[in-house]
Amino acid sequence: PAETMDELVSLAKRRGFIFPGSDLYGGLQGTYDYGPLGVELKNNLKAAWWRANVYERDDMEGLDSSILTHRLVLRYSGHEATFSDPLIDNRISKKRYRLDHLLKEQKPGVAAAVAQALGVTEAENLSALVAAIMAEPERAAEAMKAAQVVDPADGAPGDWTPPRPFNMMFKTTIGPVADEDSYGYLRPETAQGIFVNFKNVLDSTARRLPFGIAQIGKAFRNEITPRNFIFRVREFEQMEIEFFVRPGTDEEWHQRWLEARLTWWEAQGLPRQQIHVLDVPKEDLAHYSKRTFDLMYNYPTLGFEEIEGIANRSDYDLGSHTKGQAELDLQARVMENPDSTARLAVQDEQTKKWFVPFVIEPSAGVDRGVLAVLSQAYTKERLESGEERIVLKFKPHLAPIKVAVIPLAKNKEEITGYAKDLKRMLQGLGLGRVLYEDTGNIGKAYRRHDEVGTPFCVTVDYDTIGKSQDGSTRLQDTVTVRDRDTMQQERVAVRELAAYLQERLR
Ligand code: ATP
Repeated sequence: PAETMDELVSLAKRRGFIFPGSDLYGGLQGTYDYGPLGVELKNNLKAAWWRANVYERDDMEGLDSSILTHRLVLRYSGHEATFSDPLIDNRISKKRYRLDHLLKEQKPGVAAAVAQALGVTEAENLSALVAAIMAEPERAAEAMKAAQVVDPADGAPGDWTPPRPFNMMFKTTIGPVADEDSYGYLRPETAQGIFVNFKNVLDSTARRLPFGIAQIGKAFRNEITPRNFIFRVREFEQMEIEFFVRPGTDEEWHQRWLEARLTWWEAQGLPRQQIHVLDVPKEDLAHYSKRTFDLMYNYPTLGFEEIEGIANRSDYDLGSHTKGQAELDLQARVMENPDSTARLAVQDEQTKKWFVPFVIEPSAGVDRGVLAVLSQAYTKERLESGEERIVLKFKPHLAPIKVAVIPLAKNKEEITGYAKDLKRMLQGLGLGRVLYEDTGNIGKAYRRHDEVGTPFCVTVDYDTIGKSQDGSTRLQDTVTVRDRDTMQQERVAVRELAAYLQERLR
């Protein structure tokens, strides 16, 4: 794996995986653009998720709901009231921080001193400390001054404002009239689109419990401090499943999904020992959650950080959005909802009683997945020649380019024509992107394809077209296939090439 985030950032830009957003005008913080190779990698990861979670299961449906969201959806979901992070300003440096990030970056003892001043007994429990600070922001600001909380930017003690909650949703005007009621939001998660379509999907597919709805799409959060490359950004993609189960079977399904998701990440090249499962402590749980497992991948420079959350959301979501809440025996505490137009419940076949399903939600970040896969694939090797080789050892199904077809002489029509035909034939196999590549010399091409993780390079030469130097046609219609990982080269007959590659790129 990569040792530092910097080496990934630099490779990603150099080779065309990921660029800073709005780069031409100095960049837009918290946004990134996926370049020619990045878009392939990202699409491949999403396709692998869709395949495993929709096509290969018999209890799942797909969905693509809109990004622009009615404000009532995000009112009843609880986001308007609680989807906020505590924000704090340094009056001297004018820098702004997320409170928990600021506290995490202090020297040992500093956060403990603040905790002591506020009467928090477990000083190491960051969320308890944040909660205590937000309960008494004025007094906390004094305590932070006394404890000499420093500004991570310059290391000097700051003059801290009382911290305040900051809602992370992007609010936007919808339609030409900007009045009181004409606002909506860019969704902060894809999940709500699934909940509000629960009845539509149920009615149109005749599904019964247990079943799930899967969705991949963009989400937007106005993060106070976007940072760490594509790990924390303001516009990102999620791959989310809402899996609906009968209350009472939720704990068992929660465990099953934990296993399924670990197995899937392993198939994407992330070994189990690189992922810690955090059983989120009660006091850190989101308002909707009965229990949550966070999958923490060991990112370069950052260490173990969340790549996916798998939450047992109880009957909170459907219970929040349903009409007729009073008759439904909800277990979660929800806001009264006089606006909903549908009953989001199912009927027990025996007792005929209506009940609201529980929800298990595996929610993964596409961008954090791309970053993890990129980092895990990154390999630096010392060759016998003493040279250093950088190679991205992606699983073949994730590699942005599957095969590069390289003519050995680029001015020789017989060879380039042959190579182009070969490229077209291989492209037709549906393996993913096959690249015709006639830039630079063969050594450089191999080097470049190692660095972008192309599993196979196929070269077309004089032997291929029956013009070997020794005058023989023994090697006619054969090509050289070079393996990215072993660097071994093999002569393969063109008529066997499709089968050869299909077998190895599975
Ligand atoms: P964090 O604690 O890191 O802010 P979160 O717990 O708020 O994340 P969730 O609300 O559980 O995240 O979102 C589900 C997934 O979406 C996360 O596991 C992560 O992969 C992804 N995600 C969330 N916020 C961001 C972001 N700002 N940038 C990139 N991915 C994100």
